[in-house]
Amino acid sequence: MDIYNTEDFKKKCRVFGIDLSEAQVEKFMVYYELLTEWNSFMNLTAITEFEEVILKHFVDSLAVCQSEIFRNIVESSGRKKRISMIDIGTGAGFPGIPLKIVFPDFRMTLLDSLNKRVNFLNEIINKLNLKDIEAIHGRAEDFARQQIYREQFDFSVSRAVANLSTLTELCIPFVRKDGYFISYKSERVKEELSAGMKAIGILGGNMADQLEYELPDTDMKRSLLFIRKEKSTPKRYPRKAGTPAKEPLS
Ligand code: SAM
Repeated sequence: MDIYNTEDFKKKCRVFGIDLSEAQVEKFMVYYELLTEWNSFMNLTAITEFEEVILKHFVDSLAVCQSEIFRNIVESSGRKKRISMIDIGTGAGFPGIPLKIVFPDFRMTLLDSLNKRVNFLNEIINKLNLKDIEAIHGRAEDFARQQIYREQFDFSVSRAVANLSTLTELCIPFVRKDGYFISYKSERVKEELSAGMKAIGILGGNMADQLEYELPDTDMKRSLLFIRKEKSTPKRYPRKAGTPAKEPLS
């Protein structure tokens, strides 16, 4: 698709250690077109301008690739085992779809409580011909109680869904022991972090790393939190749907 200038996108990805192939770039462009097309009749994103979607949705979703923890796990899994990942509250597919395009071998699950968005995700999965990926409709609190999802994933990831205390209760239950919950946050993470530490401990996690970075060629600051699952999550968590947001663990 020559109508887009994709050189800058590729350059920004290289900052995070990703060398996109032409086929991958093409998938991102189709994704961009469908995102803006569907956004004209449903609420998917407030950001629609090309350069902004590239930076704030696509490149930001891929920021995890710069982390040593992430790279080590992906590289050491090699051919032995395929990485499994669940994206909680994925919305229009961020960060899950960009990560699936870059890592086609990942077994990816996208979860969102709004069915219209799940319909959009299924359209993307079909049009981009993605394999080993499912988009499921429902609340994290309910899916985390099902055996086939609970403590099954190498990574759970989430961006822009809730404050850290609430989010840990939604995300940590999906992670297998020694796996990671990776939370995409803005730069104002400090307060959330002190409020979230107790919840992280109760749910079996431990704060392993915090990565602060700027979106390439900008001064926009972001943070990634890496929470390692050290113990099984007690059976009573997550509490029933809505409670983690109404009464965050503290
Ligand atoms: N992660 C995307 C991004 O970064 O652009 C979407 C963020 S959007 C602000 C939050 C999404 O989380 C919404 O699509 C909403 O439906 C979903 N969501 C909120 N609470 C949820 C829950 N308990 N279980 C599943 N999805 C949830």
